[in-house]
Amino acid sequence: MFTVENTTKWLHAFHEKVQANQSYLSELDSAIGDGDHGTNMARGLAEVERKLKENLFESPQEVLKMAAMALISKTGGASGPLYGTALLEMSKQVANDPQNIGKSIEAGLNGILKRGKATTGEKTMVDIWKPVVESLMAEQQLSKERIQQFVSETKEMKATKGRASYLGERSLGHLDPGAVSSGYLFEAMIDGGI
Ligand code: ADP
Ligand code: MG
Ligand code: MG
Repeated sequence: MFTVENTTKWLHAFHEKVQANQSYLSELDSAIGDGDHGTNMARGLAEVERKLKENLFESPQEVLKMAAMALISKTGGASGPLYGTALLEMSKQVANDPQNIGKSIEAGLNGILKRGKATTGEKTMVDIWKPVVESLMAEQQLSKERIQQFVSETKEMKATKGRASYLGERSLGHLDPGAVSSGYLFEAMIDGGI
């Protein structure tokens, strides 16, 4: 179940992971994109962290909505609106049903799909969000090992959406940066106790 406390812990842990791996994320994006994914995410999450410290929230959906707005306004790139939409859709679902984690992440995934028009196998963040939703629905639990497995599977995919698609075959053999940052998001969820 989502609470103000675990949702705050979750986003705080996501911020920490992205700050710690900022250069790595940008390096991954240099190989198949324009090299800014780490700086984009770090900028957006710095704003989330600032707002987490400054505000008192009364519900988990308020925390998620604040984070969505912060990411939409500060992150930039393709990833800002995609993460922002995901968290916004999650906040609506959590307002209806704070108990069901799988359904909430599924609402986030549907937001990403609607906005980005990608499907699975196109080497984007969808390739981790989708299997994460499927495992949450199937077994009600998720491990860091499984998350890392989903992330590593993007390596052998050919990008057909986003900037990496300009490379075609040459995108093969590289991890998708947005899948790696989404992996941090889901690992942070485990760390946050959700
Ligand atoms: P930009 O590509 O604009 O520089 P970022 O580097 O911050 O933005 O983010 C790139 C990541 O965004 C990719 O690694 C991929 O995971 C994700 N992405 C790009 N386009 C899409 C899309 N249409 N649907 C889902 N995810 C996408
Ligand atoms: Mg980029
Ligand atoms: Mg860019």
